[in-house]
Amino acid sequence: MIKIPKKIIEEIAGHARDEAPLEACGYLAGKENEVLELYRMRNIDQSSEHFSFAPKEQFGVVKKVRVMGLELIAVYHSHPATSARLSSEDIRLALDPKTIYVIHSLLNNETKAFKVIEGKIINETIL
Ligand SMILES: [Zn+2]
Repeated sequence: MIKIPKKIIEEIAGHARDEAPLEACGYLAGKENEVLELYRMRNIDQSSEHFSFAPKEQFGVVKKVRVMGLELIAVYHSHPATSARLSSEDIRLALDPKTIYVIHSLLNNETKAFKVIEGKIINETIL
């Protein structure tokens, strides 16, 4: 379960639209399971099918979040042309079993959340 305020869901959708046809990506930070902050990240892959963060930018956000006393709860990215399901590439790259992976699809404007534990997909409810 992850709590994402409507305002932040709208920010994810807005970021997805801004970056289309490329994938948008970023971090969601907060406390326990409640998202409080969104950080837009650059997709250095500049791809419509996958994304990568710039390590330097990633480190900057990790530091900022820690200073605020928050945690990184989730990684979000958009699927510009496909549904909000983890691709095989997403599953392969989902290395942290504690991280929630949020996907926003521009195909049907759906937002879904998942965890990946040892290659198995677990659906996470978004409240
Ligand atoms: Zn994906």
